[in-house]
Amino acid sequence: MTRFFLILILLTFSNFLVAQDVFEKARTSMVNGQIKSRGIKDENTLKAFMNVERHKFVPDRLINSSYSDRPLPIGYGQTISQPYIVAYMTEIIQPKPTDKVLEIGTGSGYQAAILAEIIEQVYTIEIIPQLAESAGDLLKELGYKNISVKQGDGYFGWEEHAPFDAIIVTAAAEHIPPPLIEQLKDGGKMIIPVGSPFLTQQLMLVEKDNEKIKTKSMMPVRFVPFTRE
Ligand code: SAH
Repeated sequence: MTRFFLILILLTFSNFLVAQDVFEKARTSMVNGQIKSRGIKDENTLKAFMNVERHKFVPDRLINSSYSDRPLPIGYGQTISQPYIVAYMTEIIQPKPTDKVLEIGTGSGYQAAILAEIIEQVYTIEIIPQLAESAGDLLKELGYKNISVKQGDGYFGWEEHAPFDAIIVTAAAEHIPPPLIEQLKDGGKMIIPVGSPFLTQQLMLVEKDNEKIKTKSMMPVRFVPFTRE
């Protein structure tokens, strides 16, 4: 009997090791084939993509697609963004280890985890209570101590912790929320998809320089809509 249980435990453990290996291979090929090959060079960004286990951020039934080249549904009509888009938005803000970054649209928590691998402190706001709660629980379980998750309308930013070195907005807004511009540090960068919901939007880079605002369209994208409470 004891021998039977020992064998069972060994088999379960070896299955776990095989699965880990499969995910690690999938992650390496995601980084090489979807991210590096499309021009992402920032070493910290690439390292973060190797470290974060994307398959832990998708629903169980989609686990085998977790490293594929597309966004995936995470429930409540929301999505985890395509890996390349997360990498692009991370690289463009040029995250430095001492930075404090605000993310609007926590969703699965994946972008927040990527940032937390690189920078000192991540603040992230999610409007859907269930997602704010599940992402908060997952990030805690994974051991991230430098991510604060708040449920609320990200339109107003997070004033107590402002100003931010960078702001990443992961839902498409019809205009750039003025409170977010206000809460950006001088010299800071914000990346935000702007345009009509359900149509193609423009990913805009917003830079604050000597209190002047410069905006630049970077590429067409499709994000879920920025909603209001
Ligand atoms: N960064 C996420 C992507 C999630 S999709 C990830 O890595 O998984 C965008 C998220 O923005 C959705 O979860 C949506 O509920 C949220 N959202 C939309 N409008 C918002 C708002 N006004 N404030 C905060 N979150 C918002």
